[in-house]
Order: sequence, then C-alpha cells, then structure tokens
Amino acid sequence: MNPLFTAGGLPQASPDAALAADAELQITRAGSRPVNAAPEQYFTGRVSVEMLQVPSGEERSSAGAVSFKPGARTHWHSHPLGQTLIVTAGVGRIQRWGGPVEEIRVGDVVHIPPHTKHWHGAASDSAMTHTAITEVLNGSAADWLEAVTDAQYQERPAPVVASAPAAPSQGQQLFGDIAPQFAQLTDEVLFGNVWARPGLSQRDRSLITVAALIAMNRPDQLRGHLARARANGLSDAELIEATTHLAFYAGWPSAVTAIGVAREVFAADDKR
Ligand code: MN
Repeated sequence: MNPLFTAGGLPQASPDAALAADAELQITRAGSRPVNAAPEQYFTGRVSVEMLQVPSGEERSSAGAVSFKPGARTHWHSHPLGQTLIVTAGVGRIQRWGGPVEEIRVGDVVHIPPHTKHWHGAASDSAMTHTAITEVLNGSAADWLEAVTDAQYQERPAPVVASAPAAPSQGQQLFGDIAPQFAQLTDEVLFGNVWARPGLSQRDRSLITVAALIAMNRPDQLRGHLARARANGLSDAELIEATTHLAFYAGWPSAVTAIGVAREVFAADDKR
C-alpha cells in the first residue's frame, strides 16, 4: 500500500539505537521505480505517483513524486505531521482552507503545517510534478476530506511577484531615449510576456539565454544577463560550468570572452 495515502505498518519501538554496521545502502535507479495511478477516491483528474521512499521500522518519512495532468488536483486533506512539497516540473496551484489559491512553480518549496486543511494540484493549462515529503504518524500520512469543487479550483491564483530585480538590460534603461518603441517592445513583449510565461522557470530561462549569448559571443548583452541569472538563482559555479561546457560546443574564444565578462559581473555585483 502507498503510505502517502493510506495506513501502513506501525513503527516498531527499538530498545537501543546501536549503529547498524552491516546495514546495506539501498539505491533504486532512476526509471526503475514503479509509477502508479493515484487512488481515485482522493484525487480529481489524472494523477500518478512514483514512490521514492517508503518508511520501514522506526522511520517516518515517506517521499513520492506526484504528477498531475492539467486540471488535476488532490481532494481537501490535512497531514498529522505536516508535509513539504518541492515543485520539480510545470506550474501548479495550492490553497489553504480560507486562504487564496496560490500559484507554485518549478523550484518552489511549500511547507504545510500539521493539521492544516489544504489541496494541491496542477494549473488548468499546465501539468505539475512535485516531490511530496510526508511523515507518517500511527500508520497514516494524510486525513482525507471532500473533493475540491470546480468553482473552488477555478478561483484565479494570486499573481506571483517576481523575486528577480529589474533586469539591467531592460529596454527603457538601455535605449528608451533613442528608440522608445523598440524599448517598449523589449519591456512589454520580451520581459513582460515571453520571460513571464509559465512554461519554463526564471532560472531555466536565464540559463538558456546566457548559453545563447555566450555561443553567439555577445558580451554586451551577456553582462546584464549574467547579473539577472544570479538573481534568478544560478550560482557562480553553475555559470562557470555552463561556460566551460560551451567551450566545446560554441568555441573556445567565445567561452574565454564570457569568462572575462563573468569576472567583471561577479565582482561588480558583489560590491553592491
Ligand atoms: Mn498535502
């Protein structure tokens, strides 16, 4: 049975916590774990679950990768010891009873306190996968309640306020004085629309943009986008690693130019 949803074995009390010298590590390889349909009585729409961790003995934590097709969601429920959700793909929604529907995206982490009535699922126009980490108490990880109605589900999620600062490459700032309409297109269509689309995270958009600018050897545009990439959660080590990788695909000179730009940007950014 699936401990995310149903009663499992009770933890066994252990008299001592002696180190288990001969216990084997268990590695289950990617792609080798079964993916099952989630139990229909607790979900609306198509939902599948890949269990990542099933607690045994005194262990309490269970973890599962739960994938929701667009529009699919859990029923209302609560967890006796709370739950942590890590969004790993797509765009989803979550709501606490009495609170607003909130949008969640790749990389977002949600902690749900114990005994808090809530639901989670995909957006209406995007699938969503999250890793759910839940502790089992007395064999149960969740207390299930009524289904989320279409009216409850369709409440518009509150807009996500971008955490990244205004991009230094934004149109008005760069060339609003000489090319106001081009600046407006840059700000409204490129940054206001394309960058804001939910299909890729801000971090992933930064990574592909930086990669393209490095490959095309565009140091002027790269400067602003490296700063933006750091603000969007890419580490310096990751940006350097991307540059190193690109040396083999885009050419050594392009990568060397990019490293020089990165040195300037990292130093200037850190002084602010
Ligand atoms: Mn939950």
